[in-house]
Amino acid sequence: MKLWVTPKGDRWLCDECQKDFQEQIDREEWRAAFEKLDPMLRCSECKHGDVEIFD
Ligand SMILES: [Zn+2]
Repeated sequence: MKLWVTPKGDRWLCDECQKDFQEQIDREEWRAAFEKLDPMLRCSECKHGDVEIFD
């Protein structure tokens, strides 16, 4: 999961959603602040985490 600094504030995006936002990322010059692999983090777009947890 990457934390993106966007004109509308920071947001977490997973790799899948990053592809969908790539055009906007380029246009608005979003900056990836840092990347973190944490199962508790949720993508702001699809609401899924990096790691799926199965019981
Ligand atoms: Zn996502």
